[in-house]
Amino acid sequence: MSSADNDSRFARALHLHGQHRAVGDAIAPPIVPATMYHLPGDPAGPYQYGRWSNPTWNALEEMLGVLEDAPVAIFPSGMAAVAAVLYSQLKSGDRVLLPSDGYMTTRAVADKYLAPSGVQVRTCATAEMERADLTGCRLVWIETPSNPGLDIADIAAVAARAHAAGATVVVDNTTLTPLGQRPLELGADIVVSSDTKAMNGHSDVLFGHVAAREPALIESVRDWRRYAGAVPGQFEAWLVHRGLETLEVRFTRMCANAGTLAARLAEQPGVRDVRYPGLPSHPAHALAKRQMTAFGPLVGLTLADKAAAERFIGAASFIRPATSFGGVHTSAERRARWGDAVGEGFIRLSVGCEPVETLWRDFSAALAA
Ligand SMILES: *Cc1c(COP(=O)(O)O)cnc(C)c1O
Repeated sequence: MSSADNDSRFARALHLHGQHRAVGDAIAPPIVPATMYHLPGDPAGPYQYGRWSNPTWNALEEMLGVLEDAPVAIFPSGMAAVAAVLYSQLKSGDRVLLPSDGYMTTRAVADKYLAPSGVQVRTCATAEMERADLTGCRLVWIETPSNPGLDIADIAAVAARAHAAGATVVVDNTTLTPLGQRPLELGADIVVSSDTKAMNGHSDVLFGHVAAREPALIESVRDWRRYAGAVPGQFEAWLVHRGLETLEVRFTRMCANAGTLAARLAEQPGVRDVRYPGLPSHPAHALAKRQMTAFGPLVGLTLADKAAAERFIGAASFIRPATSFGGVHTSAERRARWGDAVGEGFIRLSVGCEPVETLWRDFSAALAA
């Protein structure tokens, strides 16, 4: 996958509706806050009821569809997208394999709601997925790089084995976005994303989407949304559409910043470990180079202990202490505070769009503090 493909896809997404505008039409899509549409006689036309479809949703789904190169269904949060896939694809007696080191709420939904209703929930570390026992699996869920440990699974290899076992393959692509990794091209059947993170990028909207090329798959996810009612608001959809228009500049800057800072942090006294897929020291760096078109905005930084990590976060002027990631502002947190299986001194650093030398001066001073 070349970056030229990504570039032309992004340019097409930006100009998607340009060809069809009449003189005087707004360039930005309209926000249409409708629950009812004019519907005389037998039901017909694209819009009939607000829970089923909406013109502002469509504008965003079409733009995401160009970026994913697949039909898309949008959701009011990343977890609503995750749940829509789990609930529309799994029934009692089915087996699902989830990453043991991925986003913890995905596992929590499976443990709290799916397992008691008869779904067999298995887990496996992301770095071990290639060797996992997939016998009898209905769904195989991959999150790569995993959040927060940034371990990497070989999507093409896992997908080939999963398909041989008769399973559907889902990739949670939140950490890299469609500009950083193309799971559907690598053999996955379904992509889910929390657009709350880099896709929207401004830390002001919860959002998510699902993409799938197989018509029956995306239809089953859309049906779930239509019946269960996990539908996004029109204003939120419009905000994500606006956020996406700057995704390419934001994501390029964030990844470049993260690469520069990860390499420099690794050289600093007091830094125990730096985990970044773009560094040759990452155990799966060769796979990352092959599979990803960018190495992402997340850096795993390990300092001596809890106190050293909190001191660093607190001393930096240009790090917002906050959970979540992918925003224009650099942010960080110790993941052990949520019970993740990482060391007490492990910081998940989400590098933002600030000028990189300013960030570096700030980080080095904070490390010395
Ligand atoms: C944040 C996140 C989610 C959940 O998204 P929300 O928008 O918070 O509901 C799912 N998967 C990953 C990898 C995430 O980082």
